[in-house]
Amino acid sequence: MRIVVLGAPGSGKGTQAARLKNELGIAHISTGDLLRGQVAARTPLGLKAREVMEAGRLVSDEIVLGMLEERVSQPDASKGFILDGYPRNVAQCVALEALLARIGQPLDVAILLHVPEEMLVARLAGRAAAEGRTDDNPETVRQRLHVYEQQTAPVAEHFREIDALVEVDGVGPFDEVYARILRAIEHNG
Ligand code: ADP
Repeated sequence: MRIVVLGAPGSGKGTQAARLKNELGIAHISTGDLLRGQVAARTPLGLKAREVMEAGRLVSDEIVLGMLEERVSQPDASKGFILDGYPRNVAQCVALEALLARIGQPLDVAILLHVPEEMLVARLAGRAAAEGRTDDNPETVRQRLHVYEQQTAPVAEHFREIDALVEVDGVGPFDEVYARILRAIEHNG
């Protein structure tokens, strides 16, 4: 099973993807987590990515695709994976389809989590206090939401056009949202 989870920053996609990984026994691949790992380890890639992430912009397609290619070739991804945070623009979407075709692992479904903007802002403010992510400050949050609207929303449109998109209401208790996602996968995966 290959799943893409799409949603704005603060939509809960990372938390829901982590639970899907545990219950479906497939890999959870978060490009944000991979990048934060590189930043923490101070690798050359991490040093390049850090400033871009702190500004709320997108790290270059080339860097992220290289990281993703390496990650999907690891053994735990052979039974499938949940992509969280990728693709984030139309070029990444095209690159993903080529990559998945090449490795013979086509996508089953893309899930779009809907959460109204005022709730996203409130959630991210809460997360800034709890986790201290350097990109959860108000100015960067505004920029990330802007990038989402401009660059990532068209990705959802693409998946809609190829009939691979399922939209899920991301408002409500965590367990309820999770149950909606599972139902969406059962019906469309
Ligand atoms: P969120 O969706 O809450 O913003 P992520 O952890 O998915 O959090 O992403 C954090 C940051 O990492 C992004 O703002 C961006 O700078 C970078 N990033 C993550 N995934 C990608 C990607 N696919 N392409 C480019 N940049 C990315």
